[in-house]
Amino acid sequence: MNNTWENNVRRVVPYVPGEQPKDTDVIKLNTNENPYPPAPGVRYILDSFDIADMRLYPTPDAAVLTEAIADTYGLKTSQVFVGVGSDDVISMAFLTFFNSDKPVFFPDITYSFYDVWADVYRIPYETKPLNSDFTINAEDYKKPNGGIIFPNPNAPTGVLESVEMIEDIIKANPDSVVMIDEAYIDFGGKSCLPLIEKYDNLLVIQTFSKSRSMAGMRIGFAMGSEKLIKYMNDVKFSINSYTMNTVTQLCGAAAVRDEKYFRETVDKIIDTREYSKNKLTELGFTFPDSMSNFIFASPQKKSAEYVFTELKKRKIFVRWWNKPVIKDYLRISIGTPEEMDELFKALEEILNG
Ligand SMILES: *Cc1c(COP(=O)(O)O)cnc(C)c1O
Repeated sequence: MNNTWENNVRRVVPYVPGEQPKDTDVIKLNTNENPYPPAPGVRYILDSFDIADMRLYPTPDAAVLTEAIADTYGLKTSQVFVGVGSDDVISMAFLTFFNSDKPVFFPDITYSFYDVWADVYRIPYETKPLNSDFTINAEDYKKPNGGIIFPNPNAPTGVLESVEMIEDIIKANPDSVVMIDEAYIDFGGKSCLPLIEKYDNLLVIQTFSKSRSMAGMRIGFAMGSEKLIKYMNDVKFSINSYTMNTVTQLCGAAAVRDEKYFRETVDKIIDTREYSKNKLTELGFTFPDSMSNFIFASPQKKSAEYVFTELKKRKIFVRWWNKPVIKDYLRISIGTPEEMDELFKALEEILNG
């Protein structure tokens, strides 16, 4: 065999998502999902949806959902881009805006999808080391670049940066697009969204997967200047117009319009997080202060790998990466208070038993 088609394959090492175990009796604290169900209005949409409507294509610009998001955040619909999870939105944004010979900058410890998208789209990039306390050094991002992206709060550290610090970075970069991935901003952080009126090169990206309990529906969105959103739509409509199905659009709109339920759920998770910080400290863990729905915590008496494995034996799933610097840490998603108490009981046994 001397066929050479494989020489022309677009090769890439794919992103590895957290495990979704088939077992239903596990305590799942490994992918930062929300432990509470979505807003009750979503149930109503599913019950009343007429399947005859499935004959029709969805509204191509996801108008139902785009309008609901625009209303909620006080924007024009032309400032909102909707996608199938923020992974879809960020991937589309990479393809649209990171198109320079200069490298795109992001932190060395961050969402591990960024380097995968850069690789698949052949975008040059350079990672910037975090400070030893896991904060971002703004100066690193004030050098010639082809674009900037980081999550705020960062993942998997949970560390929040201030809007002032981020504005400082945006100001220094009028020649590239700056993307702030706000997947966890609803858990107590301050959003950069108001800055989009001032900087037409700022894209703020959020998701329904965490704070709105809809990871399984796949809804993400970006907010920015009309110019940015138009460029993104041009690329999106050059690939696949109908990415988001009708039911998802309707469910998303119902969820985003229920501000009261949203606040209640998020407040419960924040309360559980603060309680969990105390418990983890009592158990001898150290961690950077988290403003997200997870805690990035390092056990002191046993290795993180050992604790990870022992927890798994007890059907409690958390996330652990066998990578330099972060291999001493476990990323623990915030579940219900009951789930967290099960976790603390198991940790007590593993560390002190
Ligand atoms: C969860 C997450 C996303 C992706 O979320 P979607 O489910 O695709 O909306 C993006 N960025 C970060 C930092 C995340 O943690």
